[in-house]
Amino acid sequence: MSAPVVPDQTWYAATATCPPKTGHLCGDACADVAIVGGGFTGLGAALELCAHGIQPLLIEAGELGDGASGRNGGQAHIGQRRDQIWLERVMGQADARKLWDLALDARADLDRLIGTHGIDCALTPGVFETDHKRRYLAETQHYVQHLNEVYDYPHVRFVGAEECRTLVASPGYYGGRLDTYAAHLHPLNLARGMAKAALVGGAGLRTHSPATALARTAQGWRISTPHGEITADKVILAGDGMLQRLYKPLDARVMPINNFIAVTAPLGEERARALIANNYAVSDSRFVVYYFRMTPDHRLLFGGGENYSYTFPKNIAAFVRPHIARIFPPLRDVAIDYAWGGTLGITANRMPLVRELEPGLYTAAGYSGLGVILAPYFGKILAQAIAGERAGFDTLARIPNMRFPGGAALRWPTLVAAMSLFALRDRL
Ligand SMILES: Cc1cc2nc3c(=O)[nH]c(=O)nc-3n(C[C@H](O)[C@H](O)[C@H](O)COP(=O)(O)OP(=O)(O)OC[C@H]3O[C@@H](n4cnc5c(N)ncnc54)[C@H](O)[C@@H]3O)c2cc1C
Repeated sequence: MSAPVVPDQTWYAATATCPPKTGHLCGDACADVAIVGGGFTGLGAALELCAHGIQPLLIEAGELGDGASGRNGGQAHIGQRRDQIWLERVMGQADARKLWDLALDARADLDRLIGTHGIDCALTPGVFETDHKRRYLAETQHYVQHLNEVYDYPHVRFVGAEECRTLVASPGYYGGRLDTYAAHLHPLNLARGMAKAALVGGAGLRTHSPATALARTAQGWRISTPHGEITADKVILAGDGMLQRLYKPLDARVMPINNFIAVTAPLGEERARALIANNYAVSDSRFVVYYFRMTPDHRLLFGGGENYSYTFPKNIAAFVRPHIARIFPPLRDVAIDYAWGGTLGITANRMPLVRELEPGLYTAAGYSGLGVILAPYFGKILAQAIAGERAGFDTLARIPNMRFPGGAALRWPTLVAAMSLFALRDRL
């Protein structure tokens, strides 16, 4: 075993590019557009506003990328959080197609973002979505065919049991779908790269400046922070599930849950390649999904397990270890060098909430675990809507969203009961 795990030290923070230079909001300020939250959504919006000649003022409670954006699994999946068959049923063929096209444009936009601003975030192709139950394979095969034929999407293929074992050395999987346009990356470097580009574009970025209150004024909106107020014509709420009563109607629609990641000591190149082929990322079919990949220094970065409270387990490495052992039994006693938790917003139907909540007050939140590609892009779409280009926004705003049963007050017990039931189904 190696040295004890550093509390909440992420492998990303330990290997990231330097953060952009920012200070906190000091005194009062005015802006055409204020953004609350400095993750992918807020930074994506800031960048696009700059491109439209609008210089926004963004405030972040901690450091930029401190939220889910800088501490996630780094897996960039193609599509929306619900699959196309679900979207066709719920939203109809035409909107399902638009959402697919938006998802592909979001992926292309990631390349544009990285290329235009020279962001060094180790984008690596290939995500293998594995089935942990044999009975899921027929559905997977059918869905792959649907994407190939109905959506003319050539980058995904079905993987059967035999090939599966050559791609992931785990007894826990029976097959799946391999998408070579999906990818994985260093998310904190992406967030920091976006922030640096936004600064160059003229955005004001203020860290350690939590919004403590939000009020409508005759002209627009007023945001309070501990050391100054912002008045703005328009506001983007980009705090995902973490806004905690800043705008109460959101609390019943986007809820925070916690998810956990552990990173092992370096395994060596040969052993790493024997566990996962071709440097793919893997995520599985569990409701509480397992997702993992190798880092460039040949560590296993493994996400597994979640909880539904405002606190993290005291020993996150011990919390994640049994999940690693379930997938890779030989790693049951592997040294874990980093372990951390993150908070993400989920919605009742697992599709993001993108809305103009009141005139001049916008949000995109509740990506429900699929924000690496979508959040920067949905931030961009909010900015486009503010600049008068509403096509993408109007499509996203049609995605249905419902309140969690019990509303803001009773949502916790209901959520815990529902999630525990689904998590139990993973084990049956
Ligand atoms: C452990 C984990 C693993 C994940 N893995 C993946 C993955 O592999 N692939 C994938 O696609 N998605 C993944 N996700 C989800 C993805 O990270 C999120 O959907 C995405 O980062 C959301 O971006 P965001 O900018 O909306 O929110 P965040 O990145 O959470 O940013 C919100 C920001 O708002 C700030 N904030 C909150 N309240 C205030 C306030 N009052 N004032 C000022 N600032 C405030 C927070 O400090 C935070 O920095 C994962 C999430 C977690 C937690």
